[in-house]
Amino acid sequence: MLKLFNTASRKNENFKPTGEVVKIYTCGPTVYNDAHIGNLTAYIYWDLLVRCLRANGYKVKRVLNLTDVGHLVSDADEGEDKLEKGAEREGKTVWEVADTYIAKFKKDYKALELAEPEIWARATDYIEDDMAAVDLMTEHGFTYETADGVYYDTSKYENYAGFAKLDLAGLQAGARVGFSDEKHNVSDFAVWKFIKEGEKHTMRWNYLGRPGYPGWHLECATIIHKELGEPIDIHTGGIDHIPIHHTNEIAECFAAYGHDLSRFWLHCNFITIDGEKISKSLGNVYLLSDLAERGFSALDYKMWVLSGHYQGTRNFTFESLEAAKARRLSWRNRIAECYQKEVSGDGVFEKILEAVNNNLNSAEAYALIDNSELSLEDWKKTDELFGLKLIEDSPKISEELQALVLEREKAREQKNFARADEIRDQLAAEGITVKDTPTGPIWQYIR
Ligand code: AMP
Ligand code: ZN
Repeated sequence: MLKLFNTASRKNENFKPTGEVVKIYTCGPTVYNDAHIGNLTAYIYWDLLVRCLRANGYKVKRVLNLTDVGHLVSDADEGEDKLEKGAEREGKTVWEVADTYIAKFKKDYKALELAEPEIWARATDYIEDDMAAVDLMTEHGFTYETADGVYYDTSKYENYAGFAKLDLAGLQAGARVGFSDEKHNVSDFAVWKFIKEGEKHTMRWNYLGRPGYPGWHLECATIIHKELGEPIDIHTGGIDHIPIHHTNEIAECFAAYGHDLSRFWLHCNFITIDGEKISKSLGNVYLLSDLAERGFSALDYKMWVLSGHYQGTRNFTFESLEAAKARRLSWRNRIAECYQKEVSGDGVFEKILEAVNNNLNSAEAYALIDNSELSLEDWKKTDELFGLKLIEDSPKISEELQALVLEREKAREQKNFARADEIRDQLAAEGITVKDTPTGPIWQYIR
């Protein structure tokens, strides 16, 4: 039985889909910048979620959105649009910036062997749907207009504070001195922003007789409505999304369509690097390419991420990445061994899946793998569950290399140690070593 921690109830709950297919929505990246290794953790955890559902025999339909408009620097309704900022920084158009970072994100996604979503949804492809949703919210009495845009009146939605357990009175009391715009409540937010005369905002659409663009949260509510139909089964994101982004998505869905947005909500925690926040000023904004320069593959990083739990705060260090890399190599060598001799295994895959079924406890599953014997069949299922490309990286070695392994063995028998050493060096250049065991030599990977 699959159990997941549901943010909405703050409890571990048994998960069962309501229909034939598990409907999942993953809040995706704002495509104005490279995704650093912290940003990528979420997609690794949700890849495990999808793979786990599939291992349990469920079909999955997942949408992952790409935010290319409306996400302002502050996460609320102030500051520049992140895409406009990216365009200024790079001397490109916003559309070029979006295209560039969508392509880069998809490249990282592939390198990490992440299960492709059934639908990649780009925010700017849903503008008409956004407008229709604002129309509905207005028709249902949830919005008001200011000089700045169309705002959601959060006092109209009784459960607004419930999801994130927000202290609205405290928020109101603590509102910035000089909070004097036309918002009725401090938690009200823009569902649609107007572009003022002279304001630089390239992405613009005419709505309500003026140029404007959708507020950030709206895309997720409208994409879910259009592509999946609410309520969906599982909605995923980072813990930072709980108080504003997801709270507002839920409110918008209710106001426009009168439904709950999702049954389950999963949120992953943040990683630190050497005990520090990831930040430019600390120079620790590592990309997958930075890890590659230091000799670590994307899959070594995935191995590190899955050695911990999605709800825990994780501290990344290069030493711990080194350990993850060594662990992945040792698993590949155990698979290589399965190709060279019979390993019966103790049918441990069921236990591995059981561990992951317990709210994605991959750390416990990893410990089981370390401490049990797996047959080739079990390794295949395990590799499918974690998406670590262990098998593809562990084929039978080529016939020439296999012949060299045998020749080395013969040379040793004939006490021709010079030839045996020569072959050892030749194999090492191919990334292979030979281990002598009581049942004869077996080859292993050294990298
Ligand atoms: P940002 O570009 O910093 O707004 O990050 C985009 C998303 O990535 C955030 O909304 C978070 O959910 C996630 N994220 C950012 N930093 C981290 C981190 N250090 N660890 C895990 N997730 C992160
Ligand atoms: Zn979202």
